[in-house]
Amino acid sequence: MGGASVTSNGGIQVDLGATRYVLDPHSHVRADYTFVSHAHIDHMHSPSKGEKVIASVATRELARARGYDLGATTEEVEGVELLDSGHILGSRAIRIADEVYYTGDASGRNRAFLGRCKTRRARILVMETTYGSPEYVFPPTAKLVKDVNSLIASAYDRGNPVVLMGYPLGKAQLLSYFFSSWEPMIYHEKVAAMNEVHVDHGVPLKAGKAFDPAKDVDRLPRGPWVMITPMASGRSRLMAHLKKEYGAILVAFSGWALGGGYKYTMGADYSFPLSDHCDYEELISLVQAVSPEMVYTVHGFAAEFARDLKRMGFSARPLAAYQSSLSDYPSAQRPVK
Ligand SMILES: [Zn+2]
Repeated sequence: MGGASVTSNGGIQVDLGATRYVLDPHSHVRADYTFVSHAHIDHMHSPSKGEKVIASVATRELARARGYDLGATTEEVEGVELLDSGHILGSRAIRIADEVYYTGDASGRNRAFLGRCKTRRARILVMETTYGSPEYVFPPTAKLVKDVNSLIASAYDRGNPVVLMGYPLGKAQLLSYFFSSWEPMIYHEKVAAMNEVHVDHGVPLKAGKAFDPAKDVDRLPRGPWVMITPMASGRSRLMAHLKKEYGAILVAFSGWALGGGYKYTMGADYSFPLSDHCDYEELISLVQAVSPEMVYTVHGFAAEFARDLKRMGFSARPLAAYQSSLSDYPSAQRPVK
């Protein structure tokens, strides 16, 4: 059996011997196996009947809660190893023989109930490079949590509520966990639905009041509260209303907050660089740990990061045709993950 080949074909196509794997396809493709690394919408597809889908149980259940039926998924395929990628609940990297290691989306640090991406050696590394540029090095998470707690404390002193915004799956559960000591705690219904799956998987998120924007927007308590919501522009109808009627302070959480303009792009009062991805230094460490002969980069700064790796002596190039248009660059109009 010769070595594996990696190409892009509606997903990341890996051919090894007579077996074809397609990783994180955007739509149905012909393959012996398809792999769904995690339950963010930009990594999801609707499998056809009989398609063999490799995914974790948590990914299958989160997908179902978001309206995607992945069918009877499996985690057990001969020659295939799934490793926790630390990105969100259920997220996995995949290693195919000792040939190919694909990170999916990955985080390089422990955060609350999430660990960091586990690595193994492989000849070919296919990696996400969302923050693959040297200006993206995230601060320690503990410091960020402390700073946000001080911000909430001073808002409570003045009687102002605080809205914490992040992706409804992943970021919102970290926010629910980190800031659970504040009362009353209100969860946007989209966040509440994802929190529920986490609780089913043993993540200790506290109960909160669910918020349906269509019904509850004029029925929130007066005085301070904390609400966790999907990311939205401060200029959106809901956020503008919460600001005007309740004096809410809007806080956005994203790795892109390291870029100076993010807060203004989002129309938020504050922004903090809390990310579910590896920062630049963590991406470099990941490459060193896998110690590959060849690196293919996908998402974000794919070309820039491949160029930096080449300077360090690695063979690297972007897998150009495979880019997720949703998560690559910051935008107030970006669809919900
Ligand atoms: Zn993701």
